[in-house]
Parts: sequence; structure tokens; C-alpha cells
Amino acid sequence: MSITPQHIDKLKEISGSKGWIDDQQAMQPFLIEPRDKYLGKTPLVLLPDSTEKVAEIITYCAHHKIALVPQGGNTGLVGGSIPTTSGNELLISLRRLNLVRETNAHNQTMTVEAGCILSDIQDLAQKNDFLFPLSLAAEGSCMIGGNLSTNAGGVNVLHYGNMRNLVLGLEVVLPNGEIWHGLNGLRKDNTGYDLKQLFIGAEGTLGIITAATLKLFPFPHEKQTALVAVPSPQAAIDLLTIARTISGGCITAFELMPRIGIEMVTRHMSGLRDPMTAPYNWYVLLECTSSLSRDLLDLEQVMERILTTAMEKDLVLDGVIAKNQNESTNLWGLRENLSEAQRHEGGSIKHDISIPISAIPEFLTDAGKLVENMIPGARPVPFGHLGDGNLHYNISQPIEMDRQVFLDKWHDLNRNIHNIVEKFNGSFSAEHGIGRMKTDEMSHYKTKVEMDLMRQIKKTLDPDNIMNPGVILT
Ligand SMILES: Cc1cc2nc3c(=O)[nH]c(=O)nc-3n(C[C@H](O)[C@H](O)[C@H](O)COP(=O)(O)OP(=O)(O)OC[C@H]3O[C@@H](n4cnc5c(N)ncnc54)[C@H](O)[C@@H]3O)c2cc1C
Repeated sequence: MSITPQHIDKLKEISGSKGWIDDQQAMQPFLIEPRDKYLGKTPLVLLPDSTEKVAEIITYCAHHKIALVPQGGNTGLVGGSIPTTSGNELLISLRRLNLVRETNAHNQTMTVEAGCILSDIQDLAQKNDFLFPLSLAAEGSCMIGGNLSTNAGGVNVLHYGNMRNLVLGLEVVLPNGEIWHGLNGLRKDNTGYDLKQLFIGAEGTLGIITAATLKLFPFPHEKQTALVAVPSPQAAIDLLTIARTISGGCITAFELMPRIGIEMVTRHMSGLRDPMTAPYNWYVLLECTSSLSRDLLDLEQVMERILTTAMEKDLVLDGVIAKNQNESTNLWGLRENLSEAQRHEGGSIKHDISIPISAIPEFLTDAGKLVENMIPGARPVPFGHLGDGNLHYNISQPIEMDRQVFLDKWHDLNRNIHNIVEKFNGSFSAEHGIGRMKTDEMSHYKTKVEMDLMRQIKKTLDPDNIMNPGVILT
């Protein structure tokens, strides 16, 4: 339904004097997505500072059938937090709902509101000698409500799992304005359907998450970070198996990078250099961590044992182990700046895929051939969370090609790469969700049974389609 001045006045009143923005310029940052792929329009940005205000806003919007787009840190990369250009949706930002309600050492939990920034949660956990393990490059601005709504992954999934595994309870405002108080924080609760899982990864289409009870873990004071050169992706996978066995499960990150990625990062990002003296085709950044003190477990020895065993089997050609936190940060810099470095190389067509780890070498061969056939000279830069079978299969444009001509091939290339992913029983969206960007892929690759079930759930909870319409399901 179209939004009238009366609706706007009432919603401003509900949200309170600091709880809204309607100035076009001030609203702009809320309406652009990080890659500039989506630019939305809205007459009003709402910024409620309590669950009760969120509930009042949604009750009013449900009554008047006004659509709402929830937003956290706006770092999602698939357009899910940006309204359409119709001007018929209001944006509701959760950034002022940012209290830490409780940290409980005995339960090893922290209960936080949706607008808490991820890095603030990590810092607070660490002050209490705990770890909140979700970690990703956008952690300085993404918010826990957004992390939950996208079931965020990041670099520690290998050991701790993604957001689905890191949460014990949720508080959610439903599309009719009712509040579901599900913050019990229990580790065992077999009383019917696990409702919280419905809202995790739902990208704001089934309600607004206002708070969550998160799991905390003992802080891993001991850490070993290494960057190693490997002859091939298959060698990287063999190294992963060895590392898992030798470390007894201490491997918390295992990231694959190609030579072209290291070249791009060292060429464009200041202060970063290749720590090895010779170039190699593939690299793995691996990290072991432990909360046991050094006298109980010597992680240095563990890392050395992993690398010498792998070298004896010709799986590792060269490598450096970080001697301190500074060196570890520099090694991580090579990985974390890969996407940014690619921006300096012209257009980049992206895929966020997962397949069984064992199928990755074959996938890379097939995908490489396809790219060369479709766009000769295009430069694949496959990198990412090999330990989770999740690769960001990004392709930089051929050096001489016009950027827009290359980017116009985005959809065709995506479909062909995703067909290969399907052949290996993989997923066309491992971490970043569906948003508005991948709804076509969704209806193409999901089965009718899956689509029907999702539509039925959506219709039951949100019969008037007011919660983030057009996201996930069209
Ligand atoms: C440089 C960079 C690196 C990244 N790396 C990773 C990575 O390694 N792993 C990964 O998984 N993702 C990654 N991302 C993607 C992004 O950071 C994550 O998806 C993050 O979880 C989004 O959080 P946000 O607060 O920014 O959410 P937003 O972008 O604001 O929103 C994302 C979706 O959630 C909905 N939403 C937001 N808050 C709520 C709420 N409270 N209730 C209901 N719905 C809500 C929005 O409507 C939208 O559909 C990366 C992004 C960038 C820019």
C-alpha cells in the first residue's frame, strides 16, 4: 500500500524524537549497498531504540499493510537490506537497539540486542576471558541481528560453526507485531519445533530479531598462524586432513588463496607483502588455536609437526609461521584484503559457492575451462574458506576488456558456474544469502518441494507480505 503523510507522522511519533530520519541526504547511507549494486528509495528511516517500539511500529504497519525493510550494519552483499526504488517501503534500522543485556560466565552466554556491532561483542567477550567466534572482514560494522538474519559464516566456521551454531535463544517481533520471547538460553530444549532456526537466515522476511542469547567459548590464548605454499588445491585438501588429525581438532581456520590473489593484494594494498621469496601457484593460511596454556599444549610443536609431515609428503613447498600477533595480522591481511584488491583490477563477477571439500579440485578445473571458453582472458581468483568447502569464486575482467561489457555477462556466467556447482551437489549461496540478487537462482535450483515449503512458511507468518517483500522469495 502507498504510504501517506498521516502514516509517516504516526510512525515518527511511535519511534520518538531521535527515532527517525526523513532528510534525503541523511537517509542516503542507509540506501546504498557496499558494492553500489543497489540504490533504494524510502520516505522514512525508522530507528527505534526498544523492542516495544519495534513491536508498535510493526503492529501499525501490519494494520495499514505498509512494507518494512530491516537493516543492521548494511554490509550484506545481496541487496537484502535495501528497499526497492518504488518508495513504498520503510526502512527500519536496528542500530539504536544496541544494549548488552547480560553476560553470564556460568552459562557461558551473552544476551545482546540486535544492533550491537559484532566487533564490540567480540571485545566484550574477550574482556571477560571468553571468545565469541564469529569473525569476518565486515565485523567492525555488521550487527548481530544482521549476522543472525544471514546466518553469517566467516573464518572460524571450520571449528565453531556458523551463526546457527552460535545462538541459544532469540527475541523476535513477528509480522503481526507480537513479540516472541525466546531468550531462554537453554542448551537442551526438546519441546517441539526449534523456532529460533526459522528466523536465522530468513533475511528479515519472517520478522525482526531484536535480541539474541549467544554462546561464548573459553578464550584461546594460544595461537599459531602459518602461510604455506602448496602445489595444488588437492594438496591443500590433503594438508587439511593431516592438520585436522595431528592437531586433534585445533584447526580453526583454513583459507585457500591463488597466486593471482597474492599478486593483486601486494600490488594494490599498502603495507602488505609476499613473505616468501619465490612465487607459488597456491597458498593456504591456516591457524590453530587453543584455550589450554602452553605447559599443557605446545601449539608451536603442533604446527611444526603438521608442516613437517606435509612437507615429507610434498604437500607443502614453502611456508612461514607468524612469530607474533603483528606477523599473524599481516598474514591475515593478505587474505582479508583480497576482495578489496580485486576492485583495483576492474570489474569482478562473484560467486559465493560451497561444494563437498573433496570435489573442489574438479570444480576448479571445470570452472576454469568454462570461464576461458566464455570470456577468454578473464582471470579467476578463487579464494576462501576451503575448510568449509566454501569458495568465493570471483572472476576479474580481462585486462583489455571494457568493464561494463564484462559485467554484462554477470548473469550468464553465474548460471553456468552454478550449473557446475549443482553437478557437485553444492550450493550457489554459501554465506551471503539470497537477498534480491539471487532470487532467480533460488527458483531455478531449489526443488518445488523446497520452494513450496518456504512459501507456506512465509504465508503463514506474514500473510500480507509486509516483511522485506521481494527478498528470498519473489
Ligand atoms: C568486506 C565484507 C566481508 C564479508 N565477509 C563475510 C564472511 O566472511 N562471511 C559472511 O557470512 N558474510 C560476509 N559478508 C557479508 C555480511 O557482512 C554479512 O552478511 C553480515 O552478517 C550482514 O550483517 P549486517 O548487520 O550488515 O546486515 P545487513 O546487511 O544490514 O542485513 C542483511 C539482511 O538481514 C536483514 N536484517 C538485518 N538486521 C535484521 C534484524 N535485526 N532482524 C531481521 N532481519 C534483519 C536485512 O533485511 C537483510 O536482508 C561480508 C561483507 C563484507 C562487506
